[in-house]
Amino acid sequence: NTQGSENSKGTLSVVTESGFMPFSYLDKGELAGFDIELIDAVMNEAGYNYDIKNVGWESMLAAVQNGEADLAIAGITINDDRKQTYDFSSPYFESTHKIVFREGENITSGEDIKDLKVGVQSGTTGAEAAEKILGTNHPNISKYEANTLAFMSLQSGDVDAVVTDNVVASEYVKNNPDAKVEMIEDTDTFESEFYGIMFPKDSEVTEDINSALKTLIDNGTYAELYEKWFGE
Ligand code: GLN
Repeated sequence: NTQGSENSKGTLSVVTESGFMPFSYLDKGELAGFDIELIDAVMNEAGYNYDIKNVGWESMLAAVQNGEADLAIAGITINDDRKQTYDFSSPYFESTHKIVFREGENITSGEDIKDLKVGVQSGTTGAEAAEKILGTNHPNISKYEANTLAFMSLQSGDVDAVVTDNVVASEYVKNNPDAKVEMIEDTDTFESEFYGIMFPKDSEVTEDINSALKTLIDNGTYAELYEKWFGE
């Protein structure tokens, strides 16, 4: 279904992956989250209609790379590696990583998972962060297609810890009291990174979308959304 106004510049195709609560997830079958509302505001501001499709992480990246989609949003980290293949908007959210583990385990820093079984979402910066500690392609690292699957493995005991983005980690711990999981307090283990909207290289809409994002940051709309989703 296409969302937006009558007098638009055209319809853009947006892809996301819904395994990334609270940025992009399914609420009673409907896409919801900070990123979903942010991209809606950006598209309205920029004057585009858009279709939004929920696909897996890998398919989302592929769709942008081959130009099938005009842009992607799902807590995607801007990094040099990806900049070779994609273009990004200005950063819109600062992130880092956290370790989630079963209650009672004595894990207080990155070093403590060195000899444990660790679950990550493959192809993410969380996977890289775990590999920095255990070693690239270490046999104790299990890579899943979705973050949600890594969390399920933690609950079932297949892995001892999950490394993922900090806000996604805290949302999961908060929403799943029965899972009996907690996360490290430590903020020194992992580096900070930034999320951006992802475009095919040399896309013609990047500048337009980016300036709409800037307008929303300048006019307080972004702050309102931020407060709604992340305010105390
Ligand atoms: N921020 C992480 C990355 O870009 C994870 C994003 C996600 O899983 N949706 O690699």
